[in-house]
Amino acid sequence: MNTKDKTKAKETMREQIYCDSKRERGALYSFPPPLIINFYKQLPIAKNYKQVDANIRRKIVVVTMDDNYDLFLDNLLAKNNVPATWFPVVNELVPELKNKEVEFHFNKDMGSIESQKKKFIEKMGYTPRINRNHRLWWRSDNIDFAYLSLHGILADSTKIGITPYKPCVQGRILPIWEIPFAFFEPSCVSVMRAGYSLVENMETLFRNNVTPIVGTFHPLNLEKYHHFSSQLEKFIRLGRKYHYNFMSLKQLLNLLQDQ
Ligand SMILES: [Zn+2]
Repeated sequence: MNTKDKTKAKETMREQIYCDSKRERGALYSFPPPLIINFYKQLPIAKNYKQVDANIRRKIVVVTMDDNYDLFLDNLLAKNNVPATWFPVVNELVPELKNKEVEFHFNKDMGSIESQKKKFIEKMGYTPRINRNHRLWWRSDNIDFAYLSLHGILADSTKIGITPYKPCVQGRILPIWEIPFAFFEPSCVSVMRAGYSLVENMETLFRNNVTPIVGTFHPLNLEKYHHFSSQLEKFIRLGRKYHYNFMSLKQLLNLLQDQ
């Protein structure tokens, strides 16, 4: 092996070790069993066997912004008068986010949910009610949903899909709405990331009157790092073209709670 090949092999190995350690840390996040079991025990049991699906007719589109604040994209939203829900990790809760709709981005790589929630309340001055797991790390529906719910989360948007639903676990309807996202930027075909989109071309969702359409977008620094370009402007343009109502996740949650 020549020096160039050796360096390349070393780099590949380093990258692999980095990925493995990250994956392992995510997988090893521990959930406290007694807390979750007791939570289930106090939920009412009925003859439920189906999740509760939302019945939404209005054409609704939701912009969500992951990981950290971005001035350029914030200006783009303001210019187009589009509401958004921001999911920054707790150490990215910068003053610029005050007065915006900021919710919880639970990072299983950064300690317990309690400590992150405490930091969130200290910085933002209120208790978060909506969550999206960072890197979309998810163990299983019966554990993650219960754990988020017993920590006061009323809605989550970590999973892929369209129709919001309340999960059913052994006859118990969990008091939490999953509001799945349909579009995730970047595409997992071009950049190997946690998320994926239902469609190759986002217009397919709009053209088929899918509702709600939740889109997940990322700050420009991440785009630069991963060599992809923002799809937010196109998403907004399509929302207008197909006469959708732009809403934040909180507004959508209010609508679901009224059902
Ligand atoms: Zn994230």
